Amino acid sequence: MSSPRVDVDGVLVSPDHYINGERIASSRTFEDRSPLDWTWKLADVARAGSVEADLAVTAAEAAFPAWAALSVNERSAYLDRLADLIDRDVDAIAHVECLDMAMLEESLRLRVIGRGARNFRAYAELARNYEPRRWSSNGTANTVLRMPAGPTVVITPWNAPFMLSTWKCAPALAAGNTVILKPAEWSPLSASMLMDLVEEARFPPGVFNVVQGLGNEVGAALVADPRVRRISFTGSPETGRFIGEAAAQNLVPFTAELGGKGPFMVFADADLDAAAEKAAGMFDDGGQVCLAGTRLLVDASIRDVFVERFEEATKRHVLGDSRESATTISPLIHPDHLTRVDGFVKRARVNGDTVVFGGERKSKNGLWYEPTLIEPKSNDSEIVQREVFGPVLTIQSFTNEAEAAQLANSTAYGLSAIIYTSSEERAERLGSLLRAGTIWVNCFLVRDLTAPFGGTGISGIGREGGDYALDFYSDLKTLQIKEGTTHG
Ligand code: NAD
Repeated sequence: MSSPRVDVDGVLVSPDHYINGERIASSRTFEDRSPLDWTWKLADVARAGSVEADLAVTAAEAAFPAWAALSVNERSAYLDRLADLIDRDVDAIAHVECLDMAMLEESLRLRVIGRGARNFRAYAELARNYEPRRWSSNGTANTVLRMPAGPTVVITPWNAPFMLSTWKCAPALAAGNTVILKPAEWSPLSASMLMDLVEEARFPPGVFNVVQGLGNEVGAALVADPRVRRISFTGSPETGRFIGEAAAQNLVPFTAELGGKGPFMVFADADLDAAAEKAAGMFDDGGQVCLAGTRLLVDASIRDVFVERFEEATKRHVLGDSRESATTISPLIHPDHLTRVDGFVKRARVNGDTVVFGGERKSKNGLWYEPTLIEPKSNDSEIVQREVFGPVLTIQSFTNEAEAAQLANSTAYGLSAIIYTSSEERAERLGSLLRAGTIWVNCFLVRDLTAPFGGTGISGIGREGGDYALDFYSDLKTLQIKEGTTHG
């Protein structure tokens, strides 16, 4: 049984799961509201439990042998078709995603949703162009082959849900796995829209499924199922630990892309205007960006002038409705998240940290939070050591490069780092010293999809991106043929 489609501001979206090529409702639902106006209920979305989890894994398991047996070119053709359909529907997906999780609509329309299409195209291409490693040793000719691994569970967070889920589903499908995607319950709608396109692209039933619901219900049931052969997770370190325990029970490889507390390092030789502008950009999307450089580490000799320019750049931000192009800072995703962000700032004040600017909710009725800068009492302050995932940055200064590197590496996280300097030598020195999965010098968020992506420390386990992802979603095997074995 399926439910009627819901009219989300002119776009008809199914609130149901998509399992084995069919829309399926659940007896229970959960409310999905818009952060742009919390009184606006977008949909009552199907709330899966263990029964739907079982259905989805059963479908993915049944579809797996035929999907895995297709040639790489045949599978890639499905992915390319899906990419074309995403490009066709960018505006509708961007609009619904904006209403669902409040990311700026213009940015979704011009960049983020299109990246979903690029994810599918990139992995179609990479899978097609795979050159197995071949070499001779010990009298044998050796070849590394990739075997599809099996049903794969992909669990994603509420920020940038369309882009992040396609980033994981694309390589899993290209590698020959079948997929069950469980999007976050705070922003479930774009995953449902993706399933309309999967159907239009004529994916065989069961190859690509979506189950909607809560993490501790259907999420937990999916990762506990022993038929699942890969788990790919993006979210918080707390949930990452839980997923790791479930994966361990079934000895299933998993990747976890987790939170960040990246340093944003500004050296005296940097272009200070560019650095200040980029640092103010860390407030974009309400600071709900795992890769953001949220700890400003600034050379003491330029601290005051940098803060002045940074504050100027921050004042140019416009908090507002994410549908309007003038808006640069969106509301936070959920009232609970707003309370969490505000809680960090309140505790910082109690701790004796100094709020340089901001530090308040923006309005009584909405979910906006002011861009906030905090000077911590010490490097041990909670506000320095824990991810806030909101528009809250800290500022600390250093007197030499060694101290800068030591501060940069002083949290348990290790997802990203940003460096502003005019010295390539310094960039290379720090590049080898910093503990982070991605380091950007004089830029931010420039992504090559073939590069490895992930975090160290509590920022993650494993790497996705390019061939790293295709290897993760495959079981590698070595074929050894004794030299002299003849043709025929
Ligand atoms: P979360 O960990 O609360 O939830 C993520 C997903 O896990 C959701 O789909 C949720 O339903 C599911 N989940 C929750 N409990 C579960 C359980 N017991 N079993 C199975 N699934 C469960 O994270 P969030 O609040 O949605 O996202 C914010 C976090 O994600 C931040 O820490 C952020 O830094 C991180 N993040 C990391 C990256 C990255 O690439 N490293 C990207 C985006 C977000």
